[in-house]
Amino acid sequence: MKTYHIWTIGCQMNVADSERLGAALERLECSPTDVMEEADIIVLNSCVVRQGAEDKVAGRLGSLKSVKRQRPETIVALMGCMVGPNTDELRARFPHTDVFMRPQEYGDLIRLVEARQGVCIDSSLPLIPSRPSVATFVPIIHGCDKFCTFCIIPYRRGRERSRPIAELVTEVEMLARRGVKEVTLLGQNVDSYGHDLPDQPDLADLLEAVDGVQAIQRVRFLTSHPNDMSPRIVDAVARLDKVCEFINLPVQAGDDDVLAAMRRGYTREQYLALVDRIRVAMPGVGLTTDVIVGFPGETRSQFQQTMDLVRRVRFDKVHMAMYSPRPGTIAWRRQADDVSQKEKKERHAALEAMQTEIAREINAALVGTTHEVLIEGEKDGRWHGRTRPNKLVYVDGGQRFHGETVQVEITEASPYSLRGRALRAAATAIPVAI
Ligand code: SF4
Repeated sequence: MKTYHIWTIGCQMNVADSERLGAALERLECSPTDVMEEADIIVLNSCVVRQGAEDKVAGRLGSLKSVKRQRPETIVALMGCMVGPNTDELRARFPHTDVFMRPQEYGDLIRLVEARQGVCIDSSLPLIPSRPSVATFVPIIHGCDKFCTFCIIPYRRGRERSRPIAELVTEVEMLARRGVKEVTLLGQNVDSYGHDLPDQPDLADLLEAVDGVQAIQRVRFLTSHPNDMSPRIVDAVARLDKVCEFINLPVQAGDDDVLAAMRRGYTREQYLALVDRIRVAMPGVGLTTDVIVGFPGETRSQFQQTMDLVRRVRFDKVHMAMYSPRPGTIAWRRQADDVSQKEKKERHAALEAMQTEIAREINAALVGTTHEVLIEGEKDGRWHGRTRPNKLVYVDGGQRFHGETVQVEITEASPYSLRGRALRAAATAIPVAI
């Protein structure tokens, strides 16, 4: 029996990939271990969206040199978006690495482990985690066709490839039998789901199909692109009972010229009109966004347009990042990174301070109200879970709530989370894992 450790950084897509690779290794009679340095198989699942993430992976991979020296039989693998056109460079820099795998391309590692273990994997079975979380991720579309000028994803994850509805429904049914209550349908751009499939279904069709899986209580989807979020999709989210009223709708910037330079394909007014349409269809919707500050050429007044948009929309959360040029992207080739680091930090701090106040106000208004919370786990004696609009709630009470949907009265609020007391648990037994 061999042990494995998969270290993951970056987006939920990477988390889902790691879970699936873990499922494959378990079928090869390997077991997970929390101690990376002691594992027989060490996989680093990498991210290149920001320089900081890439540096962190490089640091970890470098530190595994001594592990490989002490235990040469250890398999060291690098997976994910760092593995791309520069693999030869990586091979030269990290010669102690046995396998380099692009996202979702586990084949080389699987074959190596099969040879070492003397067993073969049945590739006809879907790869799903053997011990999935109550709320788990299901990749529905890989890659991205958008080529936003700042983004490396289309170069590393390739063009869009949707998975057929029937395959996804089967996977969700299997997850439900293993105790999963909530699935998040994942993709870089889930709203373009299906255009490459024979009958060209869309995300609304898929949501409808997954909504019909009996033991699943909640369905989410991540991430959306404002250009592809059709009225049909908005209507489906509003209409379908299990689909939660939560949308992450990255705006990236609030100024039309910056949006055009990013090649996002929409204007500020079009974005705001879409937000209005979503809020009319779902008045209590949870809305989050992504923003990049300090994009090449962004002036102070253009940044103020972003501040203004965030102030107007009043998002529940803003994922913000300072622009960092990613080699190989259009922006890296054509646009000088001309906003100073100091200026980027100041813009980031200003946006963060404003958004913290907005989130504080939004969450404070929830004190005294009651919400349905799906309990996902327990930490330091407190249960935690999420409301349908995706608010993180810590729940007091010693009862065993894991996997249950609980009515919770909110008693305290901070900009980042809520706290409450359980009023009653729905009578949902925890299914036995099979
Ligand atoms: S939509 Fe744009 S930002 Fe999102 S993954 Fe695709 S290219 Fe990157």
